[in-house]
Amino acid sequence: MTTLYDKLKVLDPEYYTAERVRPYEDTIARIHKLKKERNAVVLAHNYQRPEIFEIADYTGDSLGLSLMAADVRDADVIVFCGVHFMAETAKIVNPEKTVLLPNLAAGCSLADTATGPDVAARKAELKQTYPDLQVVTYVNTTADVKAESDACCTSSNAVSVVRAMESDHILFVPDQNLARHVALNVPEKTIIAWDGFCYVHHQITPESVLAMRNQIPGIKILVHPECRDDVVALADAALSTTGMIEYAQASDAQNFLAVTECGLSDMLQINVPEKTFYRACKICRFMKAISLDDVEQALLGMKFEIEVDEPVRSRARRAIERMIDLTGSQRDNLALPRNVADE
Ligand code: SF4
Repeated sequence: MTTLYDKLKVLDPEYYTAERVRPYEDTIARIHKLKKERNAVVLAHNYQRPEIFEIADYTGDSLGLSLMAADVRDADVIVFCGVHFMAETAKIVNPEKTVLLPNLAAGCSLADTATGPDVAARKAELKQTYPDLQVVTYVNTTADVKAESDACCTSSNAVSVVRAMESDHILFVPDQNLARHVALNVPEKTIIAWDGFCYVHHQITPESVLAMRNQIPGIKILVHPECRDDVVALADAALSTTGMIEYAQASDAQNFLAVTECGLSDMLQINVPEKTFYRACKICRFMKAISLDDVEQALLGMKFEIEVDEPVRSRARRAIERMIDLTGSQRDNLALPRNVADE
């Protein structure tokens, strides 16, 4: 029987020692019991620590988890193992549920680059030149920013959302690299980029990707579109996190380089063990903030509860619903229940 230690030591034998992993098994058993007592589900982003996947009911990317959160019916509590804006999104789409973020240090430096008032001011300024201007906002933003937006998007649907907007002039908030990816793929529209970026993806250089390509002939390079343009230019495919998992599962190739946050390489390796995933990745300190102990404490103390004021919530929800309307056909594909990831 494969133990948790067997699974984790493959990822990082120096960190995941038997002494470190053994106590996880007890904590995981206690968390499963608490989940039943609290009638809670755990949603976990692909970039979480790998031991968190053991207690997750669903894992996925931002959109997949938003859709999952909206579909939570029977549970009373959603424990969100991701970052703050994702837990806020769960509350926006399913306000009846208690949403817990187990560690408030799980923020996002990209989301912090835009505030609601700043986006409102920029929108008003640009509308003087482009009266038809619309705002498309990456889901990696606060509820206040979503409330100022005409539609939200994720990395997997940004191109199709922008293409479907009525306006020819789009203020794209907040990631400048994703804005550039959209501009390349929707050349018929004018994309005005906010100047934010994700500190994790921005650090990855073309040199580190090229070194791997030269070392391993035939390796497939999968790049997240939040990366710099000189890194995206080296990709076999620029994909969201869920897109990378699906690509790796469907591909005949044996070797892959996942150019994104390191958690996805971990998840790919766990779920597709017969293939080899090399890394040109960086760790997001925000995504790694939540530990198993934090989840246990969250369920014991019902903390930290995420709240969103009603007027902001309903405006933000409209922007999220617009995204889902525009990309409705993708709904079934984008959530990634754990049993699918295990196939
Ligand atoms: S990887 Fe970290 S910093 Fe970058 S967008 Fe995601 S949560 Fe934010």
